[in-house]
Amino acid sequence: MAASRRICVYPGTFDPITRGHLDIIDRGVKLFDLLVVAVAESPGKAPLFSAQERLAMIREEVGRHRNVKVESFDSLLMDYVRNKGANIVLRGLRVMSDFEYEFQMALINRKLDPSIETVFMMTSDNYAPVSSRFIKEIARYGGDERL
Ligand code: ADP
Repeated sequence: MAASRRICVYPGTFDPITRGHLDIIDRGVKLFDLLVVAVAESPGKAPLFSAQERLAMIREEVGRHRNVKVESFDSLLMDYVRNKGANIVLRGLRVMSDFEYEFQMALINRKLDPSIETVFMMTSDNYAPVSSRFIKEIARYGGDERL
C-alpha cells in the first residue's frame, strides 16, 4: 500500500501576511508533504486587503517552496479541508490569549469532523508580538512596519 501523503491546511485571514505567518509556513513545510495556505475571505472581519490581494502577497513570499499551495476559500473550514483530501489543520500560537480562542475552535472543529486533527506550532520568539493588526496600525501612521 502506498504511504498516504500528509496534506495540511494552514488557514487564516492573512490581512496581510506577516513574518510570523511566514515563519510558521517555513517550519511547517518540513513536516508535511503539502501545505495549503488557505486564505479565508472573512467578509465579517472587513479585511483591509481583498482576498485576491492577500493571495498575491502570499504567493510572492512562498514561491520558493515547491510543496506550498495558496488558495482562498469561503466555506466551512472542515468542509474545505475534507474536500482537499487533507486531514490536518495547522495553526500558530503566539501568546496565551491566542490559546483560548484556538482551543475552542479546535474543539468545535473536532466535533464537526473528528477525523481532522488540529496541530499547533509555537511562534519563534522574535515573532511573538507580530500580528497583522499591529502591522496595519504601524503602516497607517507611517511607521516602519517591517518588524
Ligand atoms: P485568523 O483570522 O484565522 O486568526 P490570522 O491571519 O490572524 O487569521 O492568523 C492565522 C494563524 O496564524 C493563526 O493560527 C494565528 O495564531 C497564526 N499567527 C499569526 N501571527 C503569528 C505569529 N507571529 N506567530 C505564530 N503564529 C501566528
